[in-house]
Amino acid sequence: MINIYKYIKNKKPHKTNRPQSRETRLTVALCGNPNSGKTTLFNLLTGSNQKVGNWPGVTVEQKTGRYRHEPTVAIVDTPGIYSLTPFTPEEQVTQSYLLHDQPDVIINVIDATSLERSLFLTSQLIELDVPVIVALNMQDEAQAKGIKIDKKILEKQFGCKFLWISAAKNLGVKELTSYCLSENLPKAKRFSYDDTVETAIRNTKTPNDVNHRRFVAIQQLSDALQTNLAEQRYSNIRQIVGKARKIEQKSEKEKRIEQITNKIDSIVLNKWLAFPIFALVMALIFYLSIGSVGGFLTDLINDGLTPKMQEIAGNWLSRADAPWLNSLICDGIIAGVMSVVGFLPQIMMLFGLISILEASGYMSRIAFITDRLLRQIGLGGRSFVSMVLGCGCSVPAIMATRTIKNADERNATITLSPFMPCSAKLAIISFFSARVLHGKALLAVSFYFISIFAVILGGLLLKLIHRQKDDNADAFILELPPYRAPKLTNVFKQMWERGKAFLFKAGTIIFTASVLLWSLTNFNFRFEFCSAEKSMMAGIGKLIAPIFIPLGFNDMGYGWQFSVATLTGIAAKETVVTTLQILLPQGIDGAISALGAYSFVTYNLLTVPCVAAISASFTEQGNWKLGVKSALFQIVVAYIVSLVIYQTGRLATTHPTALIITLCVAAVALGLFFSIRYLIRHRGCTNCKKCNQNCVK
Ligand code: GDP
Repeated sequence: MINIYKYIKNKKPHKTNRPQSRETRLTVALCGNPNSGKTTLFNLLTGSNQKVGNWPGVTVEQKTGRYRHEPTVAIVDTPGIYSLTPFTPEEQVTQSYLLHDQPDVIINVIDATSLERSLFLTSQLIELDVPVIVALNMQDEAQAKGIKIDKKILEKQFGCKFLWISAAKNLGVKELTSYCLSENLPKAKRFSYDDTVETAIRNTKTPNDVNHRRFVAIQQLSDALQTNLAEQRYSNIRQIVGKARKIEQKSEKEKRIEQITNKIDSIVLNKWLAFPIFALVMALIFYLSIGSVGGFLTDLINDGLTPKMQEIAGNWLSRADAPWLNSLICDGIIAGVMSVVGFLPQIMMLFGLISILEASGYMSRIAFITDRLLRQIGLGGRSFVSMVLGCGCSVPAIMATRTIKNADERNATITLSPFMPCSAKLAIISFFSARVLHGKALLAVSFYFISIFAVILGGLLLKLIHRQKDDNADAFILELPPYRAPKLTNVFKQMWERGKAFLFKAGTIIFTASVLLWSLTNFNFRFEFCSAEKSMMAGIGKLIAPIFIPLGFNDMGYGWQFSVATLTGIAAKETVVTTLQILLPQGIDGAISALGAYSFVTYNLLTVPCVAAISASFTEQGNWKLGVKSALFQIVVAYIVSLVIYQTGRLATTHPTALIITLCVAAVALGLFFSIRYLIRHRGCTNCKKCNQNCVK
């Protein structure tokens, strides 16, 4: 049992974004189960563009906006929850908000097609001393399914107003808001329970300074009484729903639609077909966003717009007779910022397509089919989405972790998704494959396997570090929502929002990093304009070069150049190649061995991502310490994997083919995988002889 009073007293109020402005005359909180349509309603009321998805958990932090027709009314979108018992982070956030900030009105948004499940939360909300209005959302779907609800029965039993709405179709929302803004909303009625429970509630002492005393008293009851009360709640709700809801016979057309939906699921979720279909869908998404349309637009920017801008700026600045200024603006700022802006079309395309997957309901299916597999390494179904996104760009991959409830799982996904080869790292892979690894396609593909291996290894290591057991993982209560046609306006809104956020980063962080990098590569420690070899960057490179000797960066005597390239890669991974081209004007071919190059690419593939991704990681983890830990973890994993590759490869010089190297890596990988799994499974075992697979404590 959770001692709610202690919880309220001890826990610092959740940092809320409650509008503090003096003009706020009313604060309305939207509460409800995940996927009930809160965010859609919030967007409609406030005009803002929160991400809307057809899968649970889209809102994991509360968001505040102003009612667009009356800015003195604040609307708060709270995380989706099934009950007010503070077990999950969402429940804690919502409960803490409702208890501490105390909105003036609660709009309980419920999915009218799953009335019984939704009313459990309603029965708890009416125990708070705040007026509650219930919005019966998804009116359109309820109608299509032939669901009829007698609102009068519900209103009588719950003592609050029930109103039909369809947030997606903007039906009934006006009536809902005008009722909400009306004066003197009735105080909701409370459920009464049997004498034992009621007496226990009455006898539970609550301090005088606590609001919502009945709610607080209920939360303090013993476990047995709480179970008894929950059973009575359910039984009450079942009876009420039994009286209030009627389901009409479905028409032939509706039956056919349902059959088709089930048929799609029987194919999409089929044991053998699920993964190939998923791979196909993802391949199509990547083909469209990275390859064809997005790639074409990106090439237009990189090969057309950027050189043109450099040319125009160069011509204009040549009059100033200041070569350093020309170099700063053309080679530093324009090249640096535009190398990132170039990804904008790909990012927007990728997010547009991903939002179609989310809104259609397919994303829930993806999460469902990959969940069990990823749970083995401490991740979950939702982490998979980030891993896939990570193949495009780590920034959206990290941002997509917002939908993961469990903090360990979320942080692990943020740490591990940058291991995937993003499109910028592809530039490094293809450059080295062509120049040093002599165009061997197998070697280029092997980097994908190294990424997957690093995710598995990293997942197991993190699981071990956090001593995270399987049952600690995000309890993934997943309903598979019906397939819905995505709303194009939402898709475009999301594309625009993502694009805007990305451009903002390019204009701030990347701009600063480009100027800094340019300065370090063009000035010496006496701040004199100089060549790259004499620059501060070269000084720093020579200082850090010894660290990378065991990884083979110096095996032809050009260690500092490769070390510097690794450093500049932090600004944007594409700069790794650019830096090497600047620092090794004679060409890269004789500057590093094939094995050293393989180790170098591996290190850059797995080490800390670019600043944009690092800053996304810091923001999403909400704590700089966690951000630093993630970065250190990535560096350590990158170093270990590259070290193993280089040193194993050196041992195998008599078998110089890359296949042998890959086999060695695979053997080490398997050994590590099984030993870490053994350690996790048998942690805390005292009697290992009797141990079987299910002995995890
Ligand atoms: P939240 O998790 O409660 O914030 O739910 P969302 O606002 O993200 O909505 C979940 C899904 O339900 C999205 O695909 C919405 O487009 C869809 N949705 C929301 N309201 C309605 C509605 O009234 N009718 C229908 N058919 N779909 C809706």
